[in-house]
Amino acid sequence: MLTTIVHLITGSADLAAAFLFMYGLKKMSSPVSAPWGIRMAGIGMLVAILANFLQVFTVDEAAKPHLLVNIILAVTALALGASVAWFKGRTVAMTEMPQMVAIYNGLGGGAAGAIAAVELLGNKTHGLGQLLVTLLGGLIGAVSLSGSVIAWAKLDEILKKPLRFPGQRILNATVFVAALVVAGYIAFAVHSGAPALLPISSIIWIFFGLTLLFGILMTLPIGGADMPVVISIYNAATGLAVGFDGYVIQDPALMIAGMVVGAAGTLLTLLMAKAMNRSVSNVLFSDFGDVSKQEQGKMVGSEKPEEASDAGIFMRYAASVIIIPGYGLAVAQAQEKLYEFVKLLLSAGVKVRFAIHPVAGRMPGQMDVLLAEAGVPYDLIFQLDDINDDFANTDVALVIGANDVVNPAARTDKSSPIYGMPILNADKSKKVYVVKRGQGKGYSGVDNQLFYDDSTFMVYGDAQAVLVKMIEAVRSLGAAAA
Ligand code: NDP
Repeated sequence: MLTTIVHLITGSADLAAAFLFMYGLKKMSSPVSAPWGIRMAGIGMLVAILANFLQVFTVDEAAKPHLLVNIILAVTALALGASVAWFKGRTVAMTEMPQMVAIYNGLGGGAAGAIAAVELLGNKTHGLGQLLVTLLGGLIGAVSLSGSVIAWAKLDEILKKPLRFPGQRILNATVFVAALVVAGYIAFAVHSGAPALLPISSIIWIFFGLTLLFGILMTLPIGGADMPVVISIYNAATGLAVGFDGYVIQDPALMIAGMVVGAAGTLLTLLMAKAMNRSVSNVLFSDFGDVSKQEQGKMVGSEKPEEASDAGIFMRYAASVIIIPGYGLAVAQAQEKLYEFVKLLLSAGVKVRFAIHPVAGRMPGQMDVLLAEAGVPYDLIFQLDDINDDFANTDVALVIGANDVVNPAARTDKSSPIYGMPILNADKSKKVYVVKRGQGKGYSGVDNQLFYDDSTFMVYGDAQAVLVKMIEAVRSLGAAAA
């Protein structure tokens, strides 16, 4: 009787959770409704977790003696996970968000790999089909875990340079093929019941060792500029692994959530790859993105410093300004000051727009989130393709904390790690102001000719401090006129 009631509750809860995930995702397609979408998906997750927790009470007679231990383990895991995530979510700095997303994504892959391991080690799969899906879920989940840890280390700048060595691709291919061969052997040994060379549990551990190693090896050589694509690949991979596990343990909520993440992650991967003008295989298997290959230091011209107040006043009298925000804006947390400055320009009759590059910042959509947080209206925000032709008719391009996304080397320098990536045409506008603290390079680590161009002026300083000075200068004009 209890089992029937629990199944009824979990069945309905799974359906409700699936609906909430999909409805939440739909709402996330617009920045206006996205906060609601996130809440909906979060509630869906809570419903799914609570309903699945009830499954503990449906165990068979043999497992009953372990019921209390299982409940304690499940509650401890939930409390631990929820409190760490709650604390981290509340305290994380906006600039650490990409690392946090990468590591949580990796943990999702790890959880999927762990479910597959439990199923394999406990010999719980039924039939060859389920066995193969479990192995696939384990492979993708483990690669996503170790690959995401390396991505996290790169984003956190613990690992500063891509690691490359001769014969690397052959080694990577060998490890991958070895993992597939071991997976095939596990499938054969478990399915046929034939005696294996080693205890099957040891072979399963070898399989997971190889897949984890492959994730590390595959991610280590990928260059800085390619990280946006890599992050979304692992996002998609985690979703797929979770979806496969959902099928294996016959959990519809897991299946649907996994497939939704897998599909959304795949679309994001394709969009990010398009934004970088790269194919996914090119990102994963080529040496592109290697800064050591660029001929550095061949910049023509000199950097010309400009006072923040002078730049502010010049923009106040310009007819049109396009603002290009980048990672440095997030570091300085200057989005609110930026919008304050923009409002002053708008009220003075200047046409102001924001131009967003798809890989600006350290996370897909990071600039949109920053500007939304400051309350910038969406009709002032334009994506690359919608605004790039307008730079030529614009008085000022204000580059604030951005670097790689306005680097003309992407158009002209074949040796550059960002060659081929579409950039925002800041250099085509009549005058360019670049706000940055000093000589720091962008994420890809390459020099930027834009800073040395005749029409470019450097406003050195932290973005927040510079904007305060610009605001004061423009306000003082109004006060003087009064
Ligand atoms: P970049 O990393 O190219 O440049 C940021 C610039 O901001 C630096 O040159 C730095 O110069 C400046 N800066 C840092 N702190 C401040 C501050 N407090 N005030 C003012 N300026 C500051 O940023 P972009 O946004 O142009 O490009 C993003 C890069 O990150 C691309 O290469 C992209 O491929 C990569 N990436 C993107 C991801 C994504 O999904 N969006 C994920 C992973 C990587 P200085 O030190 O002199 O101040």
